[in-house]
Amino acid sequence: MDSRMRAPGEALKPFILKGATQTEMTGDSNLETVRRYLEAEASRHGLKCFLGVAPFRDVHDGLLSVQRTKLREIAGERLHSFMEGGSFISIAFAYPEAAIDAIAVDIGGGFDLDAWGFYSDWYHRLNQALNETSSVMAERLGGVAIPATTSGMIAVIEHVEDYYPLVVSHRVAAELSGVGWRGKNELIVNPVHSCAIRLASIITDMPLERTEPIPDGCGECRACLDACPFLDNKDKLENYREQCRRYIVSLGLEHEVCGKCIKACYRESVHRDAFRL
Ligand code: SF4
Ligand code: SF4
Repeated sequence: MDSRMRAPGEALKPFILKGATQTEMTGDSNLETVRRYLEAEASRHGLKCFLGVAPFRDVHDGLLSVQRTKLREIAGERLHSFMEGGSFISIAFAYPEAAIDAIAVDIGGGFDLDAWGFYSDWYHRLNQALNETSSVMAERLGGVAIPATTSGMIAVIEHVEDYYPLVVSHRVAAELSGVGWRGKNELIVNPVHSCAIRLASIITDMPLERTEPIPDGCGECRACLDACPFLDNKDKLENYREQCRRYIVSLGLEHEVCGKCIKACYRESVHRDAFRL
């Protein structure tokens, strides 16, 4: 195992053995130990983090049918074990505030694309950190990592629906595990960091406590809808996600992002004074 996977001097926790009773082994619950692993990884990357755990079967059943097929492929021969008692660990890393403030900066007659590129770079950095972290945690927990994204796909696919069979939705796991509620912008809104987060997942069949979903907090807020005509008309448009995809491609940033609906949530929503990055 790569030495990066453990803190110096730290032994691999015995709780990873399937069927181990965590309090007998470590004195901590498995959930607390998993959280400490994540916090150590986040700290190594200089990032803030959040974690939730949902039953594997609930996430499986909540996915689109094509994504269920993808998840079954990822689980392979361990599918039955995951379905019986396994968990979906949803992990989130938060953007730094400066990255969110760099989105769609109006410079009079247009947007500052150099500044926007700073946000785009952070999107990539968070994905890299999440991919590395999910892989490290999966190895330590005897699980399987599901990385942050299939990057580079938005511009090359012909239609947004071509993307669905390629990925497993981290948002379903994040919603069912209480990392956040599903906002009106369709992103996961974390009660601490807003939707200024990126997500990855780990599936495991180790014994692990679950965290509860949290109630919808959007209420009468419509800051994200006011920031984006596609979102505001999502019920009238045939497929607003396709319009969003085309807009993202048209921006021509190095990585495939827009983020105006994220900035609106963090800076303009009813929760703006409570959110922090
Ligand atoms: S990413 Fe941009 S285009 Fe897509 S929904 Fe959000 S604000 Fe609208
Ligand atoms: S901006 Fe307001 S309505 Fe939109 S996701 Fe955030 S809290 Fe919900």
